[in-house]
Amino acid sequence: MKKIVEGVLRFKEEVYPQRLGLFKELSSGQSPEVLMITCADSRVDPGLITQAEPGELFICRNAGNIVPPYSQHTGGNTASIEFAVGVLKISEIVVCGHTDCGAMKGAMNPDGLDGLPHVCNWLSHSHAAVHVAKEKTPNAEGTELLKSVTEQNVLLQLQHLKTHPLVAAGIAAGRIRLHGWVYDIEHGEVLAYDAAADAFLPLADTAEVAA
Ligand code: ZN
Repeated sequence: MKKIVEGVLRFKEEVYPQRLGLFKELSSGQSPEVLMITCADSRVDPGLITQAEPGELFICRNAGNIVPPYSQHTGGNTASIEFAVGVLKISEIVVCGHTDCGAMKGAMNPDGLDGLPHVCNWLSHSHAAVHVAKEKTPNAEGTELLKSVTEQNVLLQLQHLKTHPLVAAGIAAGRIRLHGWVYDIEHGEVLAYDAAADAFLPLADTAEVAA
């Protein structure tokens, strides 16, 4: 914790003074264009991997970058998505998974989640991704299967997003676009879902670059 506290002090003394104008501007409000839904994993740093400035990303994080399908149940993720779309009028939603995701490993092996009833329930929102991955890559095991599950989970959560009324309406009106990404920790690369290829490709090779 000492390192973290020292970082806070260094931010105030060294970083903040260099960006006074930005922080003054942000002090009276935010208008991000992008809602990023990603994993709580400590190795995923949305600001770092996108090189976004403060104020540019509205971020929802949870284990497994999961979006529960819309229901009458009030949850933090659902409320945050509703606020981002309904109030902030964000126009782009990115669901970003990542390599070596512990939540995806848990979804693949729910028997290992004894004593973690809420984790188990939460990861049930990813079960369909495990089944789809096993259908699409029947011979995959280990890291290969985990990669497939991670990708299918991103696509599944994009489907879940479309059950949220404000998101569905925004897509229908052409106001909102959805993006599926997987961040490769080892290679510092983002793979983006390319609908034409029905595959996750290096972001530089996809239509995302021109978007
Ligand atoms: Zn994760």
